Amino acid sequence: MGLLFAFFTGLVIGSFLNVLIVRIPKGENVAFPPSHCPKCDNPLRWWHNIPLVSWIMLRGKCAYCQSPISKLYPIVELFTGLIFVSVAMKTGLNAHWFVASLIFALLLALSVIDLKYYAVPDSLNFTALILALLLPLFDFGWDWFVGDLENFDTYRHALILSFKNAAIMGLAFFILGQLVKFAIKKDALGEADIIIAATMGALLGFPLVLIAIYIAALLAIVPALFARKHMVPFVPFLALATWIVYIFAPTFRHWWSMLYA
Ligand SMILES: [Zn+2]
Repeated sequence: MGLLFAFFTGLVIGSFLNVLIVRIPKGENVAFPPSHCPKCDNPLRWWHNIPLVSWIMLRGKCAYCQSPISKLYPIVELFTGLIFVSVAMKTGLNAHWFVASLIFALLLALSVIDLKYYAVPDSLNFTALILALLLPLFDFGWDWFVGDLENFDTYRHALILSFKNAAIMGLAFFILGQLVKFAIKKDALGEADIIIAATMGALLGFPLVLIAIYIAALLAIVPALFARKHMVPFVPFLALATWIVYIFAPTFRHWWSMLYA
């Protein structure tokens, strides 16, 4: 029952992510005008807008002009649903679950935008970073939010740690980017990657964030070999690796402790 609730929450968030993915790169307002068909401009009715269900009922075509609706919409909705379920299986349904899932949902949106445009919007990227920096607060539910500062010292320690981890990773990626730029005279790590590295640092902490970077690099090698002429967007690999390491954190911690026992 709880997982079903998590899935539907994810579908709704995923539906909103689609709006962000389509509108933010074009510089459009995300709230206005209401959803409409990009081909025939007819406004969508609420029953055209039900996540996943509408796309299947309409068989992937606009109800008015029959022009095809991108498969990306149901795919993003489904993936966001699965993100919310996977995090819920780890944490249960609580404040941490919602915020952590939101961070992964934003990383998914950034991945899709990076695949389409080879660039990602700072607004979404910084939102993910800020949520990751503040995530430790949500381990105390909403207590801090309603002004219950009984655990003030614990909040403070947790926050300092996530800021420290974010700063170390951001700085490391910045220096790495400068070195690579010096070596191959090309921008290999952009500003966006630096922000995402900081988000990963805050979210995973050490040593898990290092494992995630390692996995992302391994995953990115294959497409990089095949696409010699194109740039390979790195954001999707960072996002996927972050999710893998977050979900299976106890396993990775166990392996790490075996290596250095
Ligand atoms: Zn249409």
